[in-house]
Amino acid sequence: MTNTIKGRLEDIRERIIQAEQHYRRTPGSVTLIAISKTRPATDVAQAAQAKQQHFGENYLQDALPKVTALANMNICWHFTGPVQSNKTTQIAQHFSWVHTIDRIKTAQRLNKQRPPQLPPLNICLQYNVSGESSKSGCSLSQLETLAAAINAMPNLKLRGLMALPAQSSDEAQQRSAFAAVAAAQQQLINSGYALDTLSMGMSADFEAAIAAGSTMVRVGTAIFGTRAIRN
Ligand SMILES: *Cc1c(COP(=O)(O)O)cnc(C)c1O
Repeated sequence: MTNTIKGRLEDIRERIIQAEQHYRRTPGSVTLIAISKTRPATDVAQAAQAKQQHFGENYLQDALPKVTALANMNICWHFTGPVQSNKTTQIAQHFSWVHTIDRIKTAQRLNKQRPPQLPPLNICLQYNVSGESSKSGCSLSQLETLAAAINAMPNLKLRGLMALPAQSSDEAQQRSAFAAVAAAQQQLINSGYALDTLSMGMSADFEAAIAAGSTMVRVGTAIFGTRAIRN
């Protein structure tokens, strides 16, 4: 592994291309989101200069200075952390995607607060596929209710599901969790929802996620190095 952001980005892109080929996915069907939470704006700028367009942030206070400082770069911002109610106004203003919706109330606030001059905010429902009580995300039975509610909100666009399965170093286990997310998405598609996004896979397991149909992998450490501060 090289030790520049640009070099590591190139490595990850190459691994994504290899995985697309290996698992017979359409070339270019997997988008790389660089998870830049806790990283300085200079790191994000370096990645953007190396043609990285999509970035994910988990903490609004940490993200806003970067969004402002890099406003003249061609960056699409994704919110990938838990959404607190008192943060929805700024999330609705500054982000193009929110990956972590698991409650109608949060969706309603974002729908109301999305500035009318902006296109609809892209939404993924967070599915707690491993059923861990410590994690956010909704259950399989809640997904359809949430999807129906969001479909009726004009300023939100429902795109698909996001998941953070229980960590495992066993590839078969990783793949079965990701396959369960893909199955839940297929169930919603069968019910008539037009979904095109599966946001799953991180530094340690993105190839397994691509095997199961991921269309957005969220990679932090493998691009920016080990995080010094909280997760
Ligand atoms: C931190 C984080 C990632 C990236 O994790 P890495 O292991 O650093 O690649 C992806 N998705 C979410 C939701 C995260 O919080």
